[in-house]
Amino acid sequence: MNFSYWEKEYLISPSDYLIVGMGLVGLQTAINLKEKHPKAIVTVVDRHGWGLGASTRNAGFGCFANISEILDDLKYDTQENVYETISKRYQGLIKLREKFGDLQMDYQTKGSIEIFTNNNKHELHEAIDSLQGINAILSRELNLERVFTYKSKCSLPGVIGTIHNEHEGQLNTGKMYRTIYSYALGLNINLIGGLEVLDWNDENEITINTRQKIQLKTKNLILCTNAFTSNLVDEDISPCRGQVIVSEPMENIPIKGLYHYDNGYYYWRDIDNRILLGGARNYDSVGETTNKIETSDVIISELKRFMEEQITSKPVSIEYQWSGIMGMGKSKQKKPIIKKIEPHVFLAARLGGMGVALSASVSEEIIKLME
Ligand SMILES: Cc1cc2nc3c(=O)[nH]c(=O)nc-3n(C[C@H](O)[C@H](O)[C@H](O)COP(=O)(O)OP(=O)(O)OC[C@H]3O[C@@H](n4cnc5c(N)ncnc54)[C@H](O)[C@@H]3O)c2cc1C
Repeated sequence: MNFSYWEKEYLISPSDYLIVGMGLVGLQTAINLKEKHPKAIVTVVDRHGWGLGASTRNAGFGCFANISEILDDLKYDTQENVYETISKRYQGLIKLREKFGDLQMDYQTKGSIEIFTNNNKHELHEAIDSLQGINAILSRELNLERVFTYKSKCSLPGVIGTIHNEHEGQLNTGKMYRTIYSYALGLNINLIGGLEVLDWNDENEITINTRQKIQLKTKNLILCTNAFTSNLVDEDISPCRGQVIVSEPMENIPIKGLYHYDNGYYYWRDIDNRILLGGARNYDSVGETTNKIETSDVIISELKRFMEEQITSKPVSIEYQWSGIMGMGKSKQKKPIIKKIEPHVFLAARLGGMGVALSASVSEEIIKLME
């Protein structure tokens, strides 16, 4: 195919910064770069029409930590890395809200509740034993008086105890993505969907080859490809699928706010008088280690069972089901990877399951690395 004069000279002209991945990290990295270098040509490409990995398919938790997940994370990573990542999420949430506005994202600080039942009684005891120590560390790290509070009462069936985090909130993922996307467009950032990057050559300038046989040129390349990074570079990032269901609207919705269960493997919230429930990845961890954006009967049935038995106590009709792909460490580490991989090529990926808040911090950090 021959390019038109307009395409070649104006639409795919060489960039100063070319970002691969139009998810939350890619868009915010582009925004931060353009605000720092207003005259620079900043382009974001994605193999899909928009960021279609995790950023438009998540559950909209403005979350940074729940206690049993912290205890689990400490088994696989150092204390320093675990708390540093929590701090990046917490600071990221503040940045996200300040920059894009609570109203635009429907952000509401409703708090979160982690529930425990007889099935994970042992984790409850462990959490209660660790509560004071973890609160002390978090209050130092986040400058908050107290993050976690134990409460025994909960209206959900079979719950023997709960731990509350009143600093978390929920947002509307669709509105948040649209707000950030429009902000990027408003800054005159080129957003090009439908181009899959295959590889690049770094000589005088970087030439990028795409599956669509369109070549792009840039002075700096930034990979914000999260779960799909291993297709381009060899890094400790494994794709982990997450599946989500949304119920029909209900008259008396039994929950408000954010809930977690089983080390964060199950999570649910209210949205527009419906219940959104996601997770159960541990129910088929081998099957869910995939980057296929499909749903599976085994997980969807488990989520439906959980919704009816643990949340609504009655049969519910499911109106939406989907999946998205998270980027995790192969050995369960959750610290994001932010690094220079070649003189003018950078990587910001491995956002894990709480990447909404984290994305604002990661996209600032990658730019500092480029200075
Ligand atoms: C089901 C689910 C629920 C979640 N719930 C929450 C939640 O409630 N709260 C929370 O904080 N986090 C949640 N997360 C995690 C959060 O959504 C992610 O951590 C975050 O969106 C990651 O953003 P990203 O920009 O790094 O990656 P992505 O949004 O995945 O973006 C990466 C982009 O790169 C593109 N790409 C990859 N390779 C190429 C290539 N070679 N060429 C061109 N384009 C390419 C992809 O198409 C994709 O659009 C959830 C994730 C899932 C899957």
